[in-house]
This record gives sequence, structure tokens and C-alpha cells, in this order.
Amino acid sequence: MLFGRFAFTVRYTWFKNWVNSPAGQRLGLAAIPDGPVNLRMLRRTLALELAYRPGGVLASKIHLKHVAVATTEGYACRPGGAQAELLSEVNKHESDRNLDLVLAEFRNYQQGILPAGPGARSLTAFFASIDTEITAAFETTPKIQHNDRDILNLLTKRAKVLHLGPANYCWFTDPSRALCLKIAGTPTADRPLVGMCDSARCPQATHHPTHRPVWAEHAERTKTFIGQLGKTRTVERDRLRADHDRALRVIAEIDAATTPQPNQDIP
Ligand code: SF4
Repeated sequence: MLFGRFAFTVRYTWFKNWVNSPAGQRLGLAAIPDGPVNLRMLRRTLALELAYRPGGVLASKIHLKHVAVATTEGYACRPGGAQAELLSEVNKHESDRNLDLVLAEFRNYQQGILPAGPGARSLTAFFASIDTEITAAFETTPKIQHNDRDILNLLTKRAKVLHLGPANYCWFTDPSRALCLKIAGTPTADRPLVGMCDSARCPQATHHPTHRPVWAEHAERTKTFIGQLGKTRTVERDRLRADHDRALRVIAEIDAATTPQPNQDIP
């Protein structure tokens, strides 16, 4: 325990009375305002005061007996080395994962397995342009094998705008077209609001075979709910039916796009 065992409330009241008394004023002490104070608040204030001095984060860590410096950084609201390192590691993993996903989808495209959803046409056109670029490069330098690394370089920019929704991929290329931001009334935000995603209607959303089970489960669950509704719940039934129809439509689109097709020019 930082301060040991003692009757804090009584001592604090004595201390406050003294600071606010003529004796405290004579010494130039700032008056202590009324309001609750407890040991937890005091510990937190002390941590902040310590942490904001030169070398203070380490001093706070030692004084507050934290095991990891990241705890102190969080405690003192000072994201620093440990937190920044963790964040950069997370970002790196996220970028690698996005690149792997984009590459997998590009390979799917080459096999004739296309994306579905409102953003499918734009993504397919992008893949077609990359494919053309690779083919052109191969024709000019036929002896050079174009490996994944070369293709990844071409896909990197696209991977940077990829966000994962539970039932779709979000290609956040243009905030002004993001349906979630329009609904939230924040059209200039620099990140999508995946929690408010309506991927069946947003022009930046695509659906892929990996999302099919989520939509199938949603359709099944909605169907069960509809079956359990009483006869009088017409408004609720209409809403659930629309939801169910939408899930079936997305599944049908995914199935249609997943059926391998010969590679063809994008209209
Ligand atoms: S609605 Fe969904 S797909 Fe569209 S921008 Fe928002 S999160 Fe992305």
C-alpha cells in the first residue's frame, strides 16, 4: 500500500482546515476547495504529477510498484514507449493480414471466383487492372517470374483501405460514399464505423465466400424469429421478413459470384 494504514479522512480534514486557515494563507498556500477526496484519487493525482516530470514515468513505475511500465503509462494517461511499441506491432500485424486477404482475393479473381456485394464491380475492376499490369510486365520481360512480392507491391495501396466487418469487407476509399458515416452524420471521418455497417447497401462493401456462413446463420435465425411471432405482430414480422430476404439475396449473390467463371473483361 502506497500510503500505509492511517485514518485518512480525519487527517485530511485537519490538513485542509489548516491550509485554508490564516496560517496556511500566510504561507501562500492555495486554498483547497470543498469536495470529496479519497486515497484512490490522491494516488492517481500523485501518479500524474510524478509522471509529467522529466523521467517521471519511470519514477512513477517504481514508486507505485507497477510490474510493467505500460501499466504506469496507462495509469498516467501518457502513452509512451511500451504502448507505442504495442500499437506499432498491432498495426504491422493488421497490415500483413490485410495484404494476405487482398492477395487471396486477387488469386480468387484469377480463378474466376469474384466478389459480390455493392462494391464488387469496383474491386473486380481494380483486380482486372492489376492483372493487366502483370500480364503487360510479363510480355515485356518474359524471363522474369512475377512472384507474390511483386503482386503484393501492387496491392499494398488497396490493402491499406481494407477494414473487416463481421459479414463483409469494407474498402474505405472515399469517406463521402460511406453509408455508415452518412447515417452517423460524420461524413468526413477518416475511419468507417463498422458497428453501423449496412453492407448490403454501401457501395464500399463486398461479400466473399468467407462471409457466407455468417449470412446463412443470420437468415436461419431470422426465419426462426418470424416463426415464433404472434399473429398481431405485423410490423415486426414485416421488418424481419425484409431482413430475411436481404440475407437470402446476399447469399444468392455470393453463390453466383463464387461459381468459377472464365476471366473476362469488366464492362
Ligand atoms: S457502411 Fe460498412 S462497408 Fe460502408 S463504409 Fe461503413 S463500414 Fe465500410
